[in-house]
Amino acid sequence: MSVGAHRLRVRNAAQIVTVCSRGERVLRGGEMGNVAVLEGEEGEGVGLAVDGDGKIEAVDLDSEIDAALQGCTFDHVIDASGQCVIPGLVDAHTHPVWEGDRVHEFAMKLAGATYMEVHAKGGGIHYTVDCVRRASLDQLYTSLDRRLTAMLTTGTTVVEAKSGYGLDLENETKMLRAIERAKREHAMTISSTYCGAHAIPKGSTAEDATQDVVNVQIPALRELCATGELSIDNIDVFCEKGVFDTDASRRILSTGKDAGWKLNFHGDELFPMNSGEFF
Ligand SMILES: [Zn+2]
Repeated sequence: MSVGAHRLRVRNAAQIVTVCSRGERVLRGGEMGNVAVLEGEEGEGVGLAVDGDGKIEAVDLDSEIDAALQGCTFDHVIDASGQCVIPGLVDAHTHPVWEGDRVHEFAMKLAGATYMEVHAKGGGIHYTVDCVRRASLDQLYTSLDRRLTAMLTTGTTVVEAKSGYGLDLENETKMLRAIERAKREHAMTISSTYCGAHAIPKGSTAEDATQDVVNVQIPALRELCATGELSIDNIDVFCEKGVFDTDASRRILSTGKDAGWKLNFHGDELFPMNSGEFF
């Protein structure tokens, strides 16, 4: 254990959820039902210490940590009396930038309509696309900020955030600018994803939409990344029967990969297409 300046000390907690107890890196399947919890004992709480590099250095009874880190100073000390400390949730798939809720579609779904039937009647993604195209960047940011704060309040600390309701350069850029602003101003840690191939725009075809994404949107967005206006981490495509087939998806993802973005796609969501085998 190192002596010296530390970033954080949490003390007096009733419980700390450590997830793994025997050195596993992850829990899978049935193991997920046995989440490890460290509990205080005989009136003494449990705590943790974070070193100067932001790494968790100790998780233990407070007396054990105090003994091991004697003489250390901490930038922040949090009294977690009576509280349970849990790891931050990493939300790996979200669409948090949107306008126009789709509550009215619940009635259609309850009456038995499928995702694609709702979509064909002008609902689903297309309804949101119309609302997002009409919204200003400020409007999009305001509702995104509110949603991220709600997520943070309920335990999410890292979120992957997609665009995908613009479906053209102007509006995809507007969505990505909202996410970029949140990256800079919001406390949430964000991984941003360009998802311009989330649906085929009304009046277009899969081939035209693919060409627009590959030849127009991605090159322009690469330019904005090069100038530092945007920082895109990942690219996503809706690889699905009746949307982007595996060939179109591969063209889109490989163009994104060339731009330096990590691959991330919706595959086998509605129809099995063995998508995972193609990429
Ligand atoms: Zn999705």
